[in-house]
Amino acid sequence: MITSSLPRLKILLLSTSVGPLGSGLGGGVELTLHNIAQALTQRHHQVTIVAPAGSTCANFPIIQLPGNLQTTAQSAGRDAAIVLPPEAVLANMWDYARQVQADFDLLVNFAYDWLPFFLTPFFHRPIAHLVSMGSLMNAMDQIIGQVAERFPATIGVHTQAQAATFPFASKCRPLGNGFDLSLYQFYPQPQDYLGWVGRIAPEKGLEDAVAAAQLSGIPLKIWGVMQHPDYWEGILQQYPQAPIDYAGFLPTIELQEALGQSRALVMTPRWVEAFGNVAIEALACGVPVIAYERGGPAEIVQPGKTGWLVEPDNVSGLVSAIAQLDAIDRRVCRQQAEADYSLAAMADRLESWFSDILASDPE
Ligand code: UDP
Repeated sequence: MITSSLPRLKILLLSTSVGPLGSGLGGGVELTLHNIAQALTQRHHQVTIVAPAGSTCANFPIIQLPGNLQTTAQSAGRDAAIVLPPEAVLANMWDYARQVQADFDLLVNFAYDWLPFFLTPFFHRPIAHLVSMGSLMNAMDQIIGQVAERFPATIGVHTQAQAATFPFASKCRPLGNGFDLSLYQFYPQPQDYLGWVGRIAPEKGLEDAVAAAQLSGIPLKIWGVMQHPDYWEGILQQYPQAPIDYAGFLPTIELQEALGQSRALVMTPRWVEAFGNVAIEALACGVPVIAYERGGPAEIVQPGKTGWLVEPDNVSGLVSAIAQLDAIDRRVCRQQAEADYSLAAMADRLESWFSDILASDPE
């Protein structure tokens, strides 16, 4: 482990407010927050998590706050107005943060929501914002851009591709992500099925993976939270004969065991995926990734070495890539995860980011 160059920090992590941690509704943010808490704790920083009531996050204690959940930004529309429900948990979380801020050196915001950005100048303590999605709404672009202008260094993202969706791309700091690789076993011998992991939601493009499985004749196993049942029903109606099996939302240990035995993970997002945690989870198990060449997965997959990149929205490209899976050495996949996406690698990037934020903080 690399010794930290930072003094021991007290850090308040403020979760997403679209769902309790552990529910799956928060998508990749849930695992990201957990992994960041773990990475910082390993560096001996003191971490406190604030999240909606009902949250669980491994062994970390959580300050649980009541209130109504936010709706997700994915389907809001570019011109959508900012919405806060009555008794909003987001407001409760940030009111709590306001009250306790003096006990911390730094706050980290995980919510892709307007309020934490708007509140940033009103706080005495610096706020690091880890932006979890690309540009989706003008109102969000505007408020994040204002914070980027006024508090340079505080806007973290996962990939260059995600940053490039914003007008303030040059002010974003790509941080990748990091994983506890000891939780993911290496599976040298796959079974004869493909894997697909994600929220069942239109921006994830599941129907293309289903179509590719049908054309290839290789079964597709699907894991993830059922966010849009109507969308799922539509896929079943469109592909009644497809060899697919939906196995629900699994905790990490069970997910890696099932995913790890796949011949490949197929990622077919319609949107610019900010990162794609599931790509690294697959690689960590030795599973090659076949992904559309857009967004985060396009920066992760090394074509011909750890998977294949396919022209976006092209199902026959997916089928061709599936036919070339034997060219991929599963050991190289695991090696890529170890080299770039360990908790230690993430901790290095985070500490360097925090150090820059604290150095530029006027107080
Ligand atoms: N996930 C899980 N169990 C499942 C399916 C998915 O824990 O059965 C988690 C997965 O580990 C990942 C997240 O769901 O952390 C999906 O995140 P990703 O970054 O791939 O996409 P997002 O949902 O953020 O768009």
